[in-house]
Amino acid sequence: TAPVICIDGPGGSGKGTIAGRLAERLRWHLLDSGALYRLLALAAQKQGVDLADEAALAELAGRLNVRFIPASKEQSADILLDGESASHSIRTEQMGSAASIVAALPAVRAALLQRQRDFRQSPGLIADGRDMGTVVFPDAPLKIFLTASAEERARRRYLQLKQAGVTATLDGLLDEIKQRDKRDSERAVAPLKPAVDAIQLDSTALTIDQVLEQILRQLTT
Ligand code: C5P
Repeated sequence: TAPVICIDGPGGSGKGTIAGRLAERLRWHLLDSGALYRLLALAAQKQGVDLADEAALAELAGRLNVRFIPASKEQSADILLDGESASHSIRTEQMGSAASIVAALPAVRAALLQRQRDFRQSPGLIADGRDMGTVVFPDAPLKIFLTASAEERARRRYLQLKQAGVTATLDGLLDEIKQRDKRDSERAVAPLKPAVDAIQLDSTALTIDQVLEQILRQLTT
């Protein structure tokens, strides 16, 4: 089986950026598992499925029609839901919160498990999420648990949104981040926690390049 590098951690720790850069650098496949939960939340909203209806959500997860299009010379990366670009609409704070609500449902997680494992293909996979190392790819040879203080994560999110022309307040973002952390770490299934064999990296005071360098160093040792 192909090797997997798991990058788990809370939202805003830099996982997404780091995973993308690693996949590019190594020319490996990329799994953005959070996007799957966000896409499910978006599909539920579009089809009027209640976020508390576990059976209906699991059924929806089973037939979720998504396509991840990697970045190429011609175009930037995209995510299609039922053939339509959803990469922007799933990035709102509202979809992040809705994603964390559906992600707490065991039947939903079970319905998405095999779909995530199918991303493991030659020459290798970079898997970004919360439970990549604990549940989805427990046998992965390298597991990174990336953290950063909640304040720093709110600050990064704030700058990201500002760049995208979205107005938000730092305090509001900090509240949302803390609420999502709480929901993700206290849920009964696949709670956010480092795998026993994960290497913990605190990115609070590190640049993206410094984090990348530390991970690449693990690969060569
Ligand atoms: O990483 P991202 O912010 O896109 O994830 C959105 C939500 O999806 C998280 O807050 C979490 O509740 C859920 N999630 C999860 N397991 C994963 C990835 C994301 O439960 N592997």
